[in-house]
Amino acid sequence: MNTTIKCEAYENCGVIRDLAELYKERLVSPETEKAVRTHLKTCSACRKYYQDYDAAMREAPQKPAPMHESMAGTELRLWQNLSEKMRRRRTVQIIGTGAVIGAGSIMLAVGLIMMSKSMGGLK
Ligand SMILES: [Zn+2]
Repeated sequence: MNTTIKCEAYENCGVIRDLAELYKERLVSPETEKAVRTHLKTCSACRKYYQDYDAAMREAPQKPAPMHESMAGTELRLWQNLSEKMRRRRTVQIIGTGAVIGAGSIMLAVGLIMMSKSMGGLK
């Protein structure tokens, strides 16, 4: 018989564990937070995982928790994808802000050129 720990109520333990970092950083939506909390109530394996995560965070508050080693390959990839997505979203925001500022200064520059031209024309 296979003796892998199986969640009592859910099949998505991997998802819940992937969310550990975001959950602890309070970056999840209220729905997700509720789902995680409900899951932890019924799943002792994930509860243990979150406790271990907490302990690791307390031990090394400066460094990222050494969670990678305890993760299976697939879970690690999911986790990396997730943080990659978060980073990309932040970059898009920065680019967006830059584009708005850029467009604004181009418009300003064009306006100044037109103004100086029409002023030159008056001479
Ligand atoms: Zn679970």
